[in-house]
Amino acid sequence: MKKVLTIAGSDSSGGAGIQADLKTFSAHRVFGMSVITAVTAQNTQGVFAVQDMTPEIIASQLDAIFTDIEVDAVKIGMVSQIETIKVIAEKLKQYKPKQVVVDPVMVSKSGFDLLSPDAKEALIKELIPLATVITPNLPEAEVITGRKITTIEEMKEAATQIHSLGAKNVLVKGGHLEGEATDICFNGEEFTSFNSARINTINTHGTGCTLSSAITSNLANELELIEAIREAKNYITLAIQHSFSIGKGVGPVHHFY
Ligand code: PLP
Repeated sequence: MKKVLTIAGSDSSGGAGIQADLKTFSAHRVFGMSVITAVTAQNTQGVFAVQDMTPEIIASQLDAIFTDIEVDAVKIGMVSQIETIKVIAEKLKQYKPKQVVVDPVMVSKSGFDLLSPDAKEALIKELIPLATVITPNLPEAEVITGRKITTIEEMKEAATQIHSLGAKNVLVKGGHLEGEATDICFNGEEFTSFNSARINTINTHGTGCTLSSAITSNLANELELIEAIREAKNYITLAIQHSFSIGKGVGPVHHFY
């Protein structure tokens, strides 16, 4: 069985973060492991508190895994603070995992900062160059590039710019644009677009985490990148179609539809 690691934050309500990642890994029949960067207190209505883990315990978790277990693919989610980013970058440079999927998590759907505003530069400088693929949504791509993105053409320009920052592949997710959801992938040579119909539901908590974890699982299972993204898009589309309500707010997607 392939072994896959998520480096991310805990979501107490189970819809996003580490919990979404591990459910997605199980649904893809890969063995999931986790390095926890932060613990959030949240539910379907919002994020109420965050406790960051220390750089030392993050480093120890990474050392414990990489000195013992061969890791087939890594996903990076919520990284919270500059020191967190630095220690993750240092350890990944040391252990050199084959595949690194970076989900540049910045703000929750409810508007809570999951990345300290002063840590954006560190994320761009330290983590983008390590990425096999980085998966920004439009607001994240706007922060990384410093430009407004309102069209497919501007998504392509953003993907090109982010590629030049050192990511091998860039998947800009267009779900925030009106109409059909179109994502654009750029590998340095060509663009590939992925279209899916918009699903009418409010229950979309953890969609970004789930998509990036599905891509990570598929890469671990040795799919080529475009195939890994295509399969992951099919998975998240069905998971959103089967999403459900568990509380008073935004419910989770169904990882085992
Ligand atoms: N909580 C954690 C720990 C996360 O990593 C994320 C997203 O990556 C979220 C919450 C936000 O999820 P959403 O924006 O889908 O509400």
